[in-house]
Amino acid sequence: MKLTNIFRNTILLFALAISLQIAVAQTAGNLKQHISYLASDTLHGRATGTPDEERAANYIIETFKKAGIPNADGKFGAEKYIQHFSYDPIVDSVKTHVSGNNVVAFIDNHAANTIVIGAHYDHLGMGDPKHSTYVGPPAVHHGADDNASGVAAMLDLACLIKASEYKSNNYVFIAFSGEELGLYGSKWFVQHPTVALDKIDYMINLDMVGRVDSNTHTLTVNGIGTSPTFKEVLDKIKTPLHIKTTESGLGPSDHTSFYLQNVPVVFLFSGQHKDYHKPSDTEDKINYAGMVDVVNYTMSLIAELNDKGKLAFTKTKDDNVDSAPKFKVTLGVIPDYTFDGEGMRIDAVKDDRPAAKAGLKSGDIVLKLGDVKVTEMGTYMKALAQFNKGDKTKVTIKRGDDVIEKEIEF
Ligand SMILES: [Zn+2]
Repeated sequence: MKLTNIFRNTILLFALAISLQIAVAQTAGNLKQHISYLASDTLHGRATGTPDEERAANYIIETFKKAGIPNADGKFGAEKYIQHFSYDPIVDSVKTHVSGNNVVAFIDNHAANTIVIGAHYDHLGMGDPKHSTYVGPPAVHHGADDNASGVAAMLDLACLIKASEYKSNNYVFIAFSGEELGLYGSKWFVQHPTVALDKIDYMINLDMVGRVDSNTHTLTVNGIGTSPTFKEVLDKIKTPLHIKTTESGLGPSDHTSFYLQNVPVVFLFSGQHKDYHKPSDTEDKINYAGMVDVVNYTMSLIAELNDKGKLAFTKTKDDNVDSAPKFKVTLGVIPDYTFDGEGMRIDAVKDDRPAAKAGLKSGDIVLKLGDVKVTEMGTYMKALAQFNKGDKTKVTIKRGDDVIEKEIEF
């Protein structure tokens, strides 16, 4: 290489380093601005179906508009960013009503396939006895990490992708609501998708990415068993983060809704902490340097996958909670993790397994296993744990309006 070239390249590298630094500083500033607003006292914890949810939605819409990212129709009318949803689930034997608004934006590159990047923006409001882990008088549940952090990262990614050269796919950005109450927003989206589900290449879910531990630098990347391509590319990504992976496409957040529609999913999560679902999940505890690393990591993942074509989907093996090692038996079903009524709703029945042999079908709701009443996933797992291989018992299910008993052999 000639000296002049070395000189020129040095200057170029220097300029690149400065522009990267500026980009990083800008990202951290944007993230802090988004989280400071969404997790502020004035939004009272962003409970689904409240005026505070609407204010948070408006903020997200304004951010998309400022970034020049239109709604699903390719326009900038605020109301068209909104996807309204409504459900009437039975919770603790009582018919309830859940309605809320997803916010959906769309970068249309006229490509064959679309990548979905989502984060839920709802939280627990002033406290919700069913989901809050806090005991005390009503208090703002700020939800800075859960999940103002994911929304901030998603908004920043939207801006970075808009400005990037990654045009091989279209991009849908979704701020989900109703997540804390039972993944309602994402469940609605997959039932009423703004792009055909079979054209969704993969889905990235950001839920709680604001608390990267400053000692371990760990980011958990869940769902990598949902496509063989994830494993191929993950090792190529350079990052200061310590990456831990899990296989399963199921988990307690919105990617589950997409996985159940056979969409490859990745769920990014910086870890549990003592402020989870408490008013003390506040903005001052966010690790912004860690979040910048998460945003950069996600961009690198998108870059690595940019020219891979549509990813193959694979079902993950560990998608039955009832096949976990602590159980000696399994029912052979995939539970509906989004079901919020009483009992355990079966999403799918595996062939030739006890449930199938007993004549259980998808959509059945398990109410009793032996003598144990099944009210939700927790009691279902407890009920299952009491059986040994070869045991016979009765299972009580609800099918439509009928309550039926079936003999089952483990
Ligand atoms: Zn939560």
